[in-house]
Amino acid sequence: MGLGSLFKRDKKDKKQEVVEDSHIDINTDDCGGCEKCSIACPNNVLIIVDDVSTVRDPQVCKSCKVCMAICPNDCITVN
Ligand code: SF4
Ligand code: SF4
Repeated sequence: MGLGSLFKRDKKDKKQEVVEDSHIDINTDDCGGCEKCSIACPNNVLIIVDDVSTVRDPQVCKSCKVCMAICPNDCITVN
């Protein structure tokens, strides 16, 4: 393996890290659809669909974790 392939692998790892940073996991079994997360999110990432919080657009999530803090049922994990 030459230096070129090492650099390529580093770039790929960085890209994966960014995707993981914006990942939002919602435990829909515990979500009561109270809308607190969707109201609190400053970037309008979350919407309530069929009484369950749903990620509208993960790309605009800034990982501020306000939604995690406000959820009364601890349903949301933002990595
Ligand atoms: S981490 Fe912040 S920006 Fe992302 S969904 Fe939660 S409240 Fe919205
Ligand atoms: S704050 Fe929690 S329980 Fe309320 S809608 Fe959001 S994820 Fe569901």
